[in-house]
Amino acid sequence: MRLYTVRLPEGSERVMAEGEQGEWYDLSPYYESMLDVIAQGPRVISDLYTTLKSAEKTAFHSEWTLLAPIPAPLRNVFCVGWNYLKHFNEGIGKRENQETDLPEYPTFFSKATRAVVGPHALIPYDSQFTQKLDYEAEIAVVIGQEGKNIAERDALHYVFGFTLANDISARDVQRRHGGQWLKGKSMDGSCPLGPAIVTRDEIPNIEELNVRGIVNGEVRQEARLSQLIFSIPRLIAELSRAMTLLPGDILLTGTPDGVGFAMDPPRFLRPGDRLVVESDRLGRLENTVGPDIHETR
Ligand code: MG
Repeated sequence: MRLYTVRLPEGSERVMAEGEQGEWYDLSPYYESMLDVIAQGPRVISDLYTTLKSAEKTAFHSEWTLLAPIPAPLRNVFCVGWNYLKHFNEGIGKRENQETDLPEYPTFFSKATRAVVGPHALIPYDSQFTQKLDYEAEIAVVIGQEGKNIAERDALHYVFGFTLANDISARDVQRRHGGQWLKGKSMDGSCPLGPAIVTRDEIPNIEELNVRGIVNGEVRQEARLSQLIFSIPRLIAELSRAMTLLPGDILLTGTPDGVGFAMDPPRFLRPGDRLVVESDRLGRLENTVGPDIHETR
C-alpha cells in the first residue's frame, strides 16, 4: 500500500492511501496521522487493506499539498554514510579500481527533525552558510515497531515500509566540525522525504529496490539495494544495539556514487536547480533549490 500525508487547503493534515487503480482513500476517519498508523503495530498493514474496502474513494485534488509522509518525526532522522562501494571510494578520493579497506561497521549520523520537508518543497539556499551544497539520493526505511538488540535475521519484521530521501549536505561544513557530520547535514529543509511510504508487503525482494538521483534532468546517480556495503538488516541490527528503535523512526540507507563534490570539477547546487530522487517501486521525489536567502529582490 502507498500511504501519503496530505495537507488540505484549510490546513488540516490527513493520511491518505492510493489504490491500485490510482484512486485515493481518505484515512482520517480511522487514523490521526501517519505516526498513529505506524503506532498500531505490525498488524496495521492487513487492517489497512480491510479498511480500504469500506473507505470512501476519491480522486487527488489539485489544491491538496503532499507533505513528507511523516512531516514531523519524533526523533532525528538516522542516516548512514559511505554505504555504496563506489561512493565510499569517491568520498576518500580513490579511483574505482583501487583496492579499499572497507569499514567494519557502518558510519551513523543524524539529521535534526526540522530537516524533513515534503515533495516539491523549496530547499533553503544560504550562501553565507555554505558554498558547497550537494545532493544524495537515498532509499529510506521507516521502522514499524519498537526494538532493541534486533537480530539481523529478524530485522525486516521491524520495517513498516520504504520511502525516498535526498540527504542534502553542505560539504564545506560537513567535515570542519571535528569530523562530526551533523552540522553540515542538519540544516532546516535538508531532508526532502516522500512522496509515499510504500509498505513492506509491497516489496517482496528489497534487494531489487533501485534509486536514481537526477539533477536538472541529468541522471547522476543510480544503484540498487543489492549493492549496499551494509544491508538493511545489518544496519537495523547495528543501529539497535543498546539503543531502542521506535515506531516511526526513519533510517536513510546511504547514497550511491555520483554526488556533486566528487565530480571533476565539482558541481555544487545552485538556486533554481531541480532535484529528483526516483525509484521504480517507490515513486518520484521532486524538489527545487530555493533562491539565496541573502539576495535582495
Ligand atoms: Mg547520505
